[in-house]
Amino acid sequence: MAQGKGDIGLIGLAVMGQNLILNMADHGFTVVAFNRSVEKVHAFLANEAKGKCIIGAESIPDLVSKLKTPRRVMMLVKAGDAVDSFIDQLVPHLQKGDIIIDGGNSEYQDSERRCKDLRAKGIRFVGAGVSGGEDGARYGPSLMPGGNKEAWPYIKDIFQSVAAKTDGQPCCDWVGNDGAGHFVKMVHNGIEYGDMQLIGEVYHMMQAIGVDQGKMAKTFAEWNKGELDSFLIDITKDIMGFKDTDGKYLLPKIRDTAGQKGTGKWTAIAALNYGMPVTLIGEAVFSRCLSALKNERITASKVLPGPTAKFTGNVDQFLDELRQALYASKIVSYAQGFMLLREAAGVHNWDLDYGSIALMWRGGCIIRSVFLGQIKLAFDRDPSLKSLLLAPFFLNAITRSQNAWRNVVSTAIKLGVPTPALSTALAFYDGYRSERLPANLLQAQRDYFGAHTYELLGQEGKFVHTNWTGHG
Ligand code: NAP
Repeated sequence: MAQGKGDIGLIGLAVMGQNLILNMADHGFTVVAFNRSVEKVHAFLANEAKGKCIIGAESIPDLVSKLKTPRRVMMLVKAGDAVDSFIDQLVPHLQKGDIIIDGGNSEYQDSERRCKDLRAKGIRFVGAGVSGGEDGARYGPSLMPGGNKEAWPYIKDIFQSVAAKTDGQPCCDWVGNDGAGHFVKMVHNGIEYGDMQLIGEVYHMMQAIGVDQGKMAKTFAEWNKGELDSFLIDITKDIMGFKDTDGKYLLPKIRDTAGQKGTGKWTAIAALNYGMPVTLIGEAVFSRCLSALKNERITASKVLPGPTAKFTGNVDQFLDELRQALYASKIVSYAQGFMLLREAAGVHNWDLDYGSIALMWRGGCIIRSVFLGQIKLAFDRDPSLKSLLLAPFFLNAITRSQNAWRNVVSTAIKLGVPTPALSTALAFYDGYRSERLPANLLQAQRDYFGAHTYELLGQEGKFVHTNWTGHG
């Protein structure tokens, strides 16, 4: 079926690579497929790729020889050494102007380094975030390409053709230089951690107030029709309603320890490095760590006392308050994520288009939601918006929901239910809207014990020291 030379080469025939190749072939591109273990190439050609415009390659030189120029080679392999190893193998066979794309979950600093190293060799490097899992790769992922912008005109057509579409627009656009694509993908994954943690806390609160799982499924289904309409709420509704072969719900049987692959942690580390208070993602990562201490928790559960209070309110009314608390906290989480993007963009000189990033996340990816459409509108209206909290749409939403949000957090505290993400979102909100914070005391303490000096209000820039004890 496949004839002539390939439009693009794809290395990595695991779940993401295979599905993206099939997606590209469906859109009329001829793809040359290669994998470290070559038997996977043979198996793929004999099965999923049969009858499609997909050519197999037996080696890296074979792959390169089967591509049109400038050559475009995309990798979807395990992040880390595998990417560097393939780059090293490819470079001797490529010519100046050829393009290497890394679509894996690479660290943005690695993409920055690879982009610079390859630029020096005349090769154009693209670090592209790919989100949406297996289904996204097959039928339309969210794609976040960054790196050497000279590559963009040569890959734009393929990328935007295979990407998810929202309101007819592709969920893919050029993000920025060097590591920008992978940075944006990292923040996307961090936000995903935050969204999942928030939903988990809401589930915990639903259990604490005695809602049965059938009602939970109905509640999430209802929420998915409104402003919380999103992929994660949708799948939560399905999970809530799913029964095992014995007719009982599957969810309560699943061990309550969460794993992680690292992108949430990287986001939290980046937040600390850039000095941005991305507290909700941080709490989401720590919550997974706490969940992993299962044996310690079992021991502690038998020893450490909690409150004896029971929920006495109206369940339906409280469920609606939970919905509002979830929405308000989600707004804070996205506001924090975009603050981190803005800070990193300043440091790295990335010309990020925040409305366009919201559109890239609007469809195809795990955090896709109706809500992201509003974020896009907010940034389209005011590209220099300092915080999403200040955009009229979100300001109104938080104003409407804040009483419910406060009641949910205080009820959680009274019942002894851990809600770190819902709580930190509220604490951030209260901190962000505070003209004065108690950091004056902190400055005085630092000056007291370390003569670090402090500024007086109205005399910024002038640093003074006080002899707090009156001694020598
Ligand atoms: P994966 O399990 O992360 O990686 C498997 C692929 O990497 C195979 O092709 C494997 O080749 C190759 N590989 C592993 N170690 C290698 C090494 N040392 N040298 C050369 N090749 C090596 O595959 P995946 O789940 O399809 O993900 C691909 C990339 O996309 C990853 O970076 C992943 O983080 C990212 N991603 C995954 C998802 C998802 O939902 N799975 C979503 C978004 C992004 P062999 O067959 O020879 O072992």
